[in-house]
Amino acid sequence: MIQLNDRYFEVFIKEAELQEEVSSLANKINSDYHGKDVLFLAVLNGSFMFASDLVKQINGNCEISFVKVSSYSGTISSGRVDELIGLTSSVENRHVIVLEDIVDSGLTIDKIVSLLKADNPLSVKVCTLLFKPEAFKGKQHPEYIGFSIPNSFVVGYGLDYDEKGRNLKEIYQLKEV
Ligand code: 5GP
Ligand code: MG
Repeated sequence: MIQLNDRYFEVFIKEAELQEEVSSLANKINSDYHGKDVLFLAVLNGSFMFASDLVKQINGNCEISFVKVSSYSGTISSGRVDELIGLTSSVENRHVIVLEDIVDSGLTIDKIVSLLKADNPLSVKVCTLLFKPEAFKGKQHPEYIGFSIPNSFVVGYGLDYDEKGRNLKEIYQLKEV
């Protein structure tokens, strides 16, 4: 058990299981995209470790770039405008795979995919390490899923609790007291 700030967490997915699943995702992508160039877009901050381990096992030519989602209040009274920060190259005519640490409600990934589709990519798919089926209410179901997990809070392997725990090699689950 570990402590991060005021909460306790227990190991949930061990390092070896994570690495095995990441390899299996990479193998599926290698076979599905055989002979095609892929542009990987890793969503910061949470996906940095997953993205790093995954792309090391991609065989073909690929590019990797990092994006962040931001929402800000515009001047329009209708409210929030979302944008992708860090997308420097066009996705037009590219095969894009979005790399996420976790898909929960699915709203983040819905926004990202719709912003990307506006730029006419050849294809957009989502590859997420973790997926919470019970919380999901999005339109874009991830095509590649590492682990489907229950609706509880997890940290480690890139995921944080108040910015702590991203460095952990394993995934930990919040211990309910
Ligand atoms: P969404 O609900 O839009 O699918 O997910 C939004 C974001 O919430 C995720 O990208 C992730 O940053 C965060 N999130 C959702 N569930 C968890 C969780 O169990 N642990 C951590 N650390 N972040 C989560
Ligand atoms: Mg995230």
